[in-house]
Amino acid sequence: MNLLPVVHRYSQTGKMPSKSYSIPAESCITGSKLRSVPGSVCEGCYARTGRYLMPNVREPRDWNLAVWRQARQTPEGIAAWTDEHVRQIGGSELFRWFDSGDVQGVDMLRAIVEIANRCPETMFWLPTHEWSIVASFRRAGGTIPGNLVVRLSAEMHGRRELVPGMLSSSVDSGYGQACSAVDGQCGPCRDCWDPSIENIDYHSISKLRRLHNS
Ligand code: SF4
Repeated sequence: MNLLPVVHRYSQTGKMPSKSYSIPAESCITGSKLRSVPGSVCEGCYARTGRYLMPNVREPRDWNLAVWRQARQTPEGIAAWTDEHVRQIGGSELFRWFDSGDVQGVDMLRAIVEIANRCPETMFWLPTHEWSIVASFRRAGGTIPGNLVVRLSAEMHGRRELVPGMLSSSVDSGYGQACSAVDGQCGPCRDCWDPSIENIDYHSISKLRRLHNS
């Protein structure tokens, strides 16, 4: 069997001040179910349309998923996957997990935590719908390091998920710190990475259009 070389292909979205690791949105465990729920934040998922369908955007995500699926077969594979992230991320100020896709299991979350522990100079942000994976990790005694901001993403527009002791994000909930992106750009804002902010409230496309036209 020919093994894929363990190299991660990061993306740099125009909006964000950091590189990010992504896999195809089709691999989202919870998001794929939410996609068919009217009013959910995954209905009409942005990562399944537009530029995300272009081959040069699609291909690195497919590659990252194939490398992960190979890696998770053995402890040595996960160690190599982790080491390579540390090598590629080390020294960065900020890093985002998943501008498309989501955590694939406790094994991946454990590796993400190890990467944060081994890159103490980097602030990581992990938005996720995979709350049961985070809960399983914590039940097994796992702890989230201070430089890894895990935000539970709300499932429905206009609502916020409340889990004691955990950070979150929502869309049009009116709760917490409103996202201050202007024309789709973060500018100097780093709120998503800031563990002192309990909830970040993003604007839906329709709300942004209303704000723009008012
Ligand atoms: S809250 Fe700040 S860092 Fe997060 S997406 Fe909005 S502008 Fe960017």
